[in-house]
Amino acid sequence: MKQSVIAKASRINFLNAPIDALSMSETLKKIEEFVHSKRPHQHMAVNVAKIVNLHQDQALYDSVVQSDLINADGLPIVWAARFLGKVIPERVAGIDLMQELIKLSAEKGYRPYFLGAKEEVVKAVVEIAQKKYPALQVAGYTNGYCFQNGGERKIVENIKNSRADILFVALGSPQKEIFIKKYLQEMQVPFCMGVGGSFDVVAGVTKRAPRWMQKSGLEWFYRFIQEPRRMWKRYLVTNSLFIYYVLKEKIRLVCL
Ligand code: UDP
Repeated sequence: MKQSVIAKASRINFLNAPIDALSMSETLKKIEEFVHSKRPHQHMAVNVAKIVNLHQDQALYDSVVQSDLINADGLPIVWAARFLGKVIPERVAGIDLMQELIKLSAEKGYRPYFLGAKEEVVKAVVEIAQKKYPALQVAGYTNGYCFQNGGERKIVENIKNSRADILFVALGSPQKEIFIKKYLQEMQVPFCMGVGGSFDVVAGVTKRAPRWMQKSGLEWFYRFIQEPRRMWKRYLVTNSLFIYYVLKEKIRLVCL
């Protein structure tokens, strides 16, 4: 895939992963350029788990490197980059970016498409967005549980025919990354982003960490206490490896 020149200008290398050192407002400007280009672009949100996993997973590494816009989705990434002498202006969390893009779409007439989560959840997300922004034109929506028996093809056709400007994909990982990569060119949506469990948060099915935890880099801990059985291994292993990689890199830089 040919990477966008505009996105490349802001790119830094952080522990072998490319990240665009952009604030939220700079990110929104890039996305508007993508929308106006009418050509398909893929977003990637990089968190601690992704940084660690891409060292062991070539397919994940390729999908990050090939993305047109890569944001730091976590304060620990911003802090660790600073510790290693690189500046990322701020965290751009996927859910915050999605909310900003919905607002921008209503203001500028961009048409978002919502894919993923349960039917009642995605429907609620569309209703909440339209109620908040009556000018918003929604290109379409589909739940994330109808991929079987030819459903995936129908979804792709539906998105393509909707001529959406922005696509939000609320599926799990790596399902959302695989779907976007596979159908990016065919769907021809100028800006596609995976948003994981964000529809559930917007619809009020799950709760996001309180503001003070988000600002203290503890959002991961909130998720951990909500689902300790599912999350303990993810966080224990990935957080420890992350600290190890950061310290190893620091020692390398000091010894240079
Ligand atoms: N999801 C979906 N279809 C599936 C599996 C999951 O639409 O086949 C949705 C799920 O309802 C949720 C979102 O994907 O809204 C993220 O799921 P999860 O929290 O399990 O993913 P994770 O963030 O842990 O990778």
